[in-house]
Amino acid sequence: MLRNDQLEQWDRESFFHPSTHLGQFARGEAPQRIIRTGQGCFIEDRDGNRFLDAFAGLYCVNVGYGRPEIAEAIAEQARELAYYHAYVGHGTEASITLAKMVMDRAPAHMSKVYFGLSGSDANETNVKLVWHYNNLLGRPEKKKIISRWRGYHGSGLVTGSMTGLKLFHDRFDLPLERILHTEPAYFYRRPDPDMTEADFVSFCAAELEALIAREGAETIAAFIGEPVMGTGGLVPPPAGYWDVIQSILERHDILLIADEVVTGFGRLGSMFGSEHYGLRPDLITLAKGLTSAYAPLSASIVSGRMWDVLARGTDEYGPIGHGWTYSAHPIGAAAGVANLRLVDELGLVQNAAEVGAYFVAAMRTALADHPHVGEVRGEGMLCAVELVADKAARRFHDPAGKVAGAVVAEMARNGVIARAMPQGDIIGFAPPLCLTRDEADQVVAVTRNAVRATLG
Ligand code: PLP
Repeated sequence: MLRNDQLEQWDRESFFHPSTHLGQFARGEAPQRIIRTGQGCFIEDRDGNRFLDAFAGLYCVNVGYGRPEIAEAIAEQARELAYYHAYVGHGTEASITLAKMVMDRAPAHMSKVYFGLSGSDANETNVKLVWHYNNLLGRPEKKKIISRWRGYHGSGLVTGSMTGLKLFHDRFDLPLERILHTEPAYFYRRPDPDMTEADFVSFCAAELEALIAREGAETIAAFIGEPVMGTGGLVPPPAGYWDVIQSILERHDILLIADEVVTGFGRLGSMFGSEHYGLRPDLITLAKGLTSAYAPLSASIVSGRMWDVLARGTDEYGPIGHGWTYSAHPIGAAAGVANLRLVDELGLVQNAAEVGAYFVAAMRTALADHPHVGEVRGEGMLCAVELVADKAARRFHDPAGKVAGAVVAEMARNGVIARAMPQGDIIGFAPPLCLTRDEADQVVAVTRNAVRATLG
């Protein structure tokens, strides 16, 4: 085995890490953490430090680390058939079984599932399908996509454009044209503090209506949104938000893409966020929880009404021009089958609902009264603590101070990993769905102590 100092040197010299301060990292000024193993909700680094991973990697290791059932399914698939493609009607037992399992869990009006590798590529697929659909329907001008500021939909060209975070746009020449943004469903950051939730929902609706009117409904193809906003701040929508938004979309014949990369397969304590909030999407984007990240795999689920148009299109024009070499990769599919079985056998959707509610309530009790905690919010196994400079005036910290980063660093020194979300001083939690109440208590205690140690 390589020595730690050797690995550390190679890491600094050779590895281009995503979402990292490249200069500081290469110069050895930013920390590095080399992870060796994981078990349940815990990971361990090369120095033997153990951490409770309260962000499940990047909210993806839903069943927890070290599950032998998935490791064995992957090994067996690799021995039997590591790869075959899925083009022109090819499949494997794993990919076909997984397609059936996904569709058995999907909302009844959905029809078929396409497999990719990442949340970003699944959203690229979805945008392509939306454009193709409108071309097939003879309305080539209906192509624009509306997403929300602070939404996160990936970091490719189109998906990075749909992502509504400055960091992903600035100096990358994004967003691309055709991609528009509207108000996020972020009640805490409402423009007027006197607004009620109902007022704020009406405000979001009016903003969306105004955007559609400005652009012309005949130019707008789809709206994409996360049922609960994730990377933009872990923000459950205000009551009634999705009903109002959906009725606007339906009135203007605008498709709905539910980006369930985070919420899919149990994170909210229900199988899908669409079911949780009564969404009727035309496309659903899935990744993370599909395999609990034991292997890369994503999915785009297509509704019956879209499928009928796509299938008729191939009768007219021939096979659809879309696919990746690794679509429905057998190893990813085998991981997915074993993972979804485990989610059922361990009752993890139920656990996310029960322990998640306990966790969010405990975090509220521990921190809601702190003078620098503006809000504690959550849904299922998602929780956020939003820090403020002045609570009464709802004044936020200067981003340069990186207050949430300091709290999260202090938490890591005490054995718990949380995530400083990229825009705003927001501490994010998305633990594995197998979190126990004792583990939840540990996360809450470490968070409370770190907030006090950092902010008084
Ligand atoms: N959509 C949502 C809601 C996400 O949270 C993410 C990633 O965090 C993505 C899409 C992109 O997924 P990936 O990073 O696998 O490309």
